Amino acid sequence: AGLFGTSIAFQLGRRRAGSVLLIERDRVAGGDSGLSFSLIRRHYSNEVTARLAVRGVEIIKQWEDEVGTGESGYVGTGYLLTVGEEQLEAVADNVERLRDWGVDTSVVSADEIAELEPLLSLDGIAGAAYEPDGGFADAQKMTLAWFAGASREGVDPVFEAVTAIRVEDGRVRGVETTGGRIDAQTVVLAVGGWGKELAATAGVDVPISLRREQALRFRQAAGRPQARMTFSDTVSDVVFRPDRAGLALAVAYHAEQPLARRDDCRTEPDSDYAPAVREALGVRLPAYADAEWIGGFAGAYDFTPDWNPIVGWVPGVDGLYLALGWSGHGFKLSPSVGEVVAAAVFGEEPPIDVADLALERFAAGKPLRLAYGAGARA
Ligand SMILES: Cc1cc2nc3c(=O)[nH]c(=O)nc-3n(C[C@H](O)[C@H](O)[C@H](O)COP(=O)(O)OP(=O)(O)OC[C@H]3O[C@@H](n4cnc5c(N)ncnc54)[C@H](O)[C@@H]3O)c2cc1C
Repeated sequence: AGLFGTSIAFQLGRRRAGSVLLIERDRVAGGDSGLSFSLIRRHYSNEVTARLAVRGVEIIKQWEDEVGTGESGYVGTGYLLTVGEEQLEAVADNVERLRDWGVDTSVVSADEIAELEPLLSLDGIAGAAYEPDGGFADAQKMTLAWFAGASREGVDPVFEAVTAIRVEDGRVRGVETTGGRIDAQTVVLAVGGWGKELAATAGVDVPISLRREQALRFRQAAGRPQARMTFSDTVSDVVFRPDRAGLALAVAYHAEQPLARRDDCRTEPDSDYAPAVREALGVRLPAYADAEWIGGFAGAYDFTPDWNPIVGWVPGVDGLYLALGWSGHGFKLSPSVGEVVAAAVFGEEPPIDVADLALERFAAGKPLRLAYGAGARA
């Protein structure tokens, strides 16, 4: 019952056909959906994720009409993907494609960036991709809202751990849980960083690795200037977004912390992380050099070899559908993925063609394009 389990359950419940169970071993939003930076952008390097993000952000912005329960917490701050000279061409190329796919975005110069966010130090920055309605929302609120919405639509929550996916004669038969066996014709595996372990119980090897990532929350002293723009800076590797009430969140990508299992992930930030973020932030956003650190969190990126998710039926195991490997950028994709998966389960044409996200792409040597190299950025 993270972003994906609840979004999918909500869309399945809405169709009011058959019995839908949402199985959770811990608590709603108790995984990475409760530990998300929740940044909103549609800057992607490939069509399928860009289209999922376009529809995803549409739902996030029109939550009341689209979902009707709870709220998404959307705040439009504007979003900048800032780059150095050597990546300007890649940004311009991506922006051109994104505009063709319906994204409101443009390339802005360093002077225009200075107007959009006067607090940003432009050292080494040559330009940016800009999305006026990028910003952030609240992953936890959305997960809880979908959970409530799914319950309203007749989905039954089951608070047990799945211990194995049952497969017989090349067909899924249901799951074993700590509360006993559950029969099912279709199993959708949407368990975030626990996906590799659970897929293995069905004999399916998914190429997902885990990496711990941290985020810090700052409070800017009263009377100090407040940054208003959300940005991801490829030059300093800092990601920043304002929060409510004078707070801000920042990530500074630094030494990689690989994890063998999602259960090994410590969710408190490391004591040496705050100075690292402060230093990086001090360079890019000098007005925040003395902002007070008031906590933070750490979760796991469940990344695939091309840093894009795995969505689709599993060849050779009829009835098993994967929605895994969100690679640290699944938040704004979760609303549209719910619609896509529900359509697939009911044998309908999905509203967005996700064939490019199939598990088979790795064996076939057809990874998705990444304009800025390996990572969660685009
Ligand atoms: C620090 C951080 C920052 C991020 N920032 C962004 C961002 O700015 N923008 C963005 O788009 N994305 C971001 N992401 C990514 C995004 O948060 C994730 O892609 C998303 O939350 C994944 O949701 P999920 O439903 O797949 O997984 P989860 O939220 O982890 O949910 C999986 C659920 O499955 C349950 N489960 C596990 N095993 C079992 C079992 N055996 N039986 C039953 N239940 C089980 C777990 O308890 C959990 O509730 C970030 C992630 C992190 C860690």
